[in-house]
Amino acid sequence: MFDIFYVLFLFSIFLCWGSFLNVVAYRITYDKPFFTKRSVCPFCGKIVFWYDNLPILSWVLLRGRCRFCRASISILYPCIELLSGILFTSLVLFFPLASYLLFFSALIIAIRTDLEAMVIPQVFSIWLAPVGVLLSLFGFTRVSFWESLLGALVGYGVLWSIAALFKYFTKRDGLGVGDMELLAMIGSFLGPIGVWFSVFIGSVSGLVIGGGYLLLTKKGRNTRIPFGPFLALGATIYFFFESFLFRVFF
Ligand SMILES: [Zn+2]
Repeated sequence: MFDIFYVLFLFSIFLCWGSFLNVVAYRITYDKPFFTKRSVCPFCGKIVFWYDNLPILSWVLLRGRCRFCRASISILYPCIELLSGILFTSLVLFFPLASYLLFFSALIIAIRTDLEAMVIPQVFSIWLAPVGVLLSLFGFTRVSFWESLLGALVGYGVLWSIAALFKYFTKRDGLGVGDMELLAMIGSFLGPIGVWFSVFIGSVSGLVIGGGYLLLTKKGRNTRIPFGPFLALGATIYFFFESFLFRVFF
């Protein structure tokens, strides 16, 4: 078993890493300057005290509001922090491969920007596909060079084909280019089988969760549901439970 203090140590480090990913995602979504000295409240412009900037804890203590102007702070902040804490701690404990710190950081940023603004930044999707291929070439990922290259191509191609078919039959855009670019990146780190599971788990969970959301909130069926977070969920489940999924499906 793992030493509980070691686990808590990792968890707190990665909560802070999640805070950093929040900032990156926020600044990239709203095109804010990347290197500013201090965090400020986007509503009143006041500088955020360090003790109001602690992962999860500050958000809970302030009940999701700015200390000064009481403007509400997105629930995405504590969620992304918690997700990062759990995900990266599990990564270090069970599959310690440095390349996947980059991979999951990109996925987490994509989850936040897609949920918040329906965009996936290219820097953290398609631009990382060649990086994944290169890392695979030097043996820094779980897949071989050819699996990585094929994964990236299949990842982009499969969603491109689905989108083209969808558009042909419904005359509407169903998938964004961002989804294809994200799946190309996923493919470069997880290979073609990873792509298959990401799309499969992503579609099923997207239908269930997205459909449930539309039903509960009584939104019209033309409401756009971001697909990126579901692809990321599929990729994550595949990464951590690959051997289990293989036993079930093959
Ligand atoms: Zn404020």
